[in-house]
Amino acid sequence: MLTFDNQFRRELPGDPNTSNTTRQVNGAVWSPVMPTPVAAPRLIAYSQEMANELGLSTAMMQSTEVVNALGGNGVFAGSEPYATVYGGHQFGHWAGQLGDGRAIYLGEVVNAAGTRHELQLKGAGPTPYSRRADGRAVLRSSIREFLCSEAMFHLGIPTTRALSLVATGDKVVRDMFYDGNPEREPGAIVCRVAPSFTRFGHFEIHAARNDVALLKKLIDFTIARDFVDITLPTEPVERVGEWFGVIAERTAVMVAHWMRVGFVHGVMNTDNMSILGLTIDYGPYGWIDNFDPGWTPNTTDAEGRRYCYGRQPEIARWNLERLGSALLMVTDEDSQDAHHMGDLLTAGMNRYDAAFDLATRNNLAGKFGFAEWREEDTALVNDAYRLLVDAEVDMTIFFRRLAEVGVAPKDVTADRATMAEAFYRDDLRETHQAAFDAWIERYRHRIAEDDFAPTDRAARMAQFNPKYVLRNYLAQEAIDLATGGDNRMVLELLDVMRRPYDEQPGRERFAEKRPDWARQKAGCSMLSCSS
Ligand code: AMP
Ligand code: MG
Repeated sequence: MLTFDNQFRRELPGDPNTSNTTRQVNGAVWSPVMPTPVAAPRLIAYSQEMANELGLSTAMMQSTEVVNALGGNGVFAGSEPYATVYGGHQFGHWAGQLGDGRAIYLGEVVNAAGTRHELQLKGAGPTPYSRRADGRAVLRSSIREFLCSEAMFHLGIPTTRALSLVATGDKVVRDMFYDGNPEREPGAIVCRVAPSFTRFGHFEIHAARNDVALLKKLIDFTIARDFVDITLPTEPVERVGEWFGVIAERTAVMVAHWMRVGFVHGVMNTDNMSILGLTIDYGPYGWIDNFDPGWTPNTTDAEGRRYCYGRQPEIARWNLERLGSALLMVTDEDSQDAHHMGDLLTAGMNRYDAAFDLATRNNLAGKFGFAEWREEDTALVNDAYRLLVDAEVDMTIFFRRLAEVGVAPKDVTADRATMAEAFYRDDLRETHQAAFDAWIERYRHRIAEDDFAPTDRAARMAQFNPKYVLRNYLAQEAIDLATGGDNRMVLELLDVMRRPYDEQPGRERFAEKRPDWARQKAGCSMLSCSS
């Protein structure tokens, strides 16, 4: 049914210990481990696009054999399950060995076109890297990962994908807010898919352990398997240094996309950073409602706000520096090679800055509907963002409505009416109305300078400004219903998010700003890492 070619397992050193006991794993990059069977796997939803990509028909997806394998009861022919070792900097501090504590690789599937995909079950039971946890995942966090992976894909943002969402029939105990109130929640498993799930932390761990031979092996393997599409120098130092620059650029493009659509990852630890620049590990992520650079959905981060929306570009940069430090280990300390590598890593960081600036200028020009970015647009754009913060304006609705303003004839009253929907509070709207009017006036002048037919401008803006994003409260509504056994909203959201930039008549309710009830509700504005 699926053709497996498990190159990672075949070519990289594995752990000789085959027991499923929690431990430090040295000298290997993976450990064999089987999913732990569950009570009653039941397919809640799957991604049609992903199934097609893997060559799985509707009938296959719904077959007992496939549902069992996606729930961890039995394995596909050719699958050789394993978990990998990685480390990471969590909230700015080196955390030592982490590893796939609740993700189990099924192996690498090569589809009919020859494209390779890694498959993982998230929540399929303990692995040698589970530490004190159970290796399971609850339904609410699995719905969130499943829906957001696919939503991000359809937004055109580099991301890991999700094939399926399976309910396990088992209960999982979680203390959602770590406040001594554990509850039994329904369990679920997401089968996620990516060309590679390799993270920055996969390299950091071997560097931290001074296992240079293993670090080099993993680098060589990753470049050969996961970066086939790029040409790198053959000289070893040049090769790794140049490769780092590619990773830096891809990371920059990813984060610029997050900023464009108002996505907040929530836990940008280095173990949650993909070497391919894919959005990975959907945990306490969130979407900006009222624009606020300081907003973080992650309650664990509420104090420091390390991972808030506005700091994401700086944190990605910091994470790249950690990766760079690990890669530096392939050269001998203080040698000529080390100095050369240092220069290349610095050049790589410069490539991050340049790629981020370029992507951001392009994204901002697209969002505001400018034919191209001009340096003097900075003031106009900054003033807009300042107003969005001060007046508590919905980011997503603002930009969609701005496109409407741009095609309408100049009329202050009509512009106010067009924009009114984007405001959360009438009092703040009134307070800032004059400032908004003045800003719109400046905006009208600016866009008049472009040689753009208004409808062309609006069409272009619609490609940068999604109408439908997976707002936290929408995901939470779907979760509440699914917890009561009604999966229809999960399926409907999956479908709505397939065309995020299109007007979808009849589905306006999925484009509405956060309702008042969701302002402080768990899951809507506050999320914990407990999942
Ligand atoms: P995260 O904060 O989700 O990125 O996870 C950090 C580390 O904790 C990773 O090594 C995970 O595999 C591990 N982890 C998180 N939740 C669980 C769980 N329920 N069981 C086992 N390991 C887990
Ligand atoms: Mg993680």
